[in-house]
Amino acid sequence: MLQAAPGFYLIEGPRNGQHPYAHFMFIDDRVPTLLDTGWGRESLRGLGNKKIDLIINSHFHLDHMGNNDAFPGARVWAHRLDAPALRSRQTFVEYYGLDFSRSWLDVSEITQSRVDRELEDRERICLGEVELQVIHTPGHSPGHCVFFCREESLVYGGDMDLSEIGPFYGSRVSNIDDWIASIHKVMALEPRIFISAHRGILDEDVRDCLHRYLDRIYEREARIIDGLQRPRTLSELTLLKPITGSFKEIGDLFYQIEMLSISHHLGRLLKSGQVTRDGPYYILS
Ligand SMILES: [Zn+2]
Ligand SMILES: [Zn+2]
Repeated sequence: MLQAAPGFYLIEGPRNGQHPYAHFMFIDDRVPTLLDTGWGRESLRGLGNKKIDLIINSHFHLDHMGNNDAFPGARVWAHRLDAPALRSRQTFVEYYGLDFSRSWLDVSEITQSRVDRELEDRERICLGEVELQVIHTPGHSPGHCVFFCREESLVYGGDMDLSEIGPFYGSRVSNIDDWIASIHKVMALEPRIFISAHRGILDEDVRDCLHRYLDRIYEREARIIDGLQRPRTLSELTLLKPITGSFKEIGDLFYQIEMLSISHHLGRLLKSGQVTRDGPYYILS
């Protein structure tokens, strides 16, 4: 357990918190609380036998709620818009919009979770000494939230993970415009300490990290526009790998994520009129 601030501890996920693992937070207060629960029981080793009364999930993805079921006595809270995908495996799969037969994961392994209370933007949660504010940050998923402790100037960012391979908006329910607005919303909080579920504790240059993270969205969009110097279909654009640059095989999970992410960019470009469509072809205006 690494202390990030008084009462806030990082529980490190295996493999440095790389997906499908993730880091998460333990708050040692009158209401002992977890912000997310990671995936894989080995992720819980760092927590020991701590009693947990409350789990607050940043969003519905498995690497953040996969161990909710290890704490049957704890209440579970999550944002209203992601709660349906925590509760139901079928909704989880629909929200993702990916073919999981190509994934590391068998659909039957997707954990379902109770949600006892649905959160709303800006509500305050008092855990004893620590007070958290829910900041609804949609885009990665519709109900993604970060949690802000004003007193410590600390944000738990969930999958606003400030990683070099992010930002990630490769689910069917992702929305790039919303994610951009959400990153700006977190910038405005000017946090001194930022906890990333895939990078850990960041306490230097948080502002710059947020700016670089945001810029990467526009860099990807510039690469897509570059790819449209001649009309191309979505599949042709996907083969240019403007988002992750990393899939190996057509049809695999990363290919699907690449394609879904590009389709969200194309939606933005069509809306702004920078791109038009002729049948399967996307054309620069
Ligand atoms: Zn996620
Ligand atoms: Zn994640």
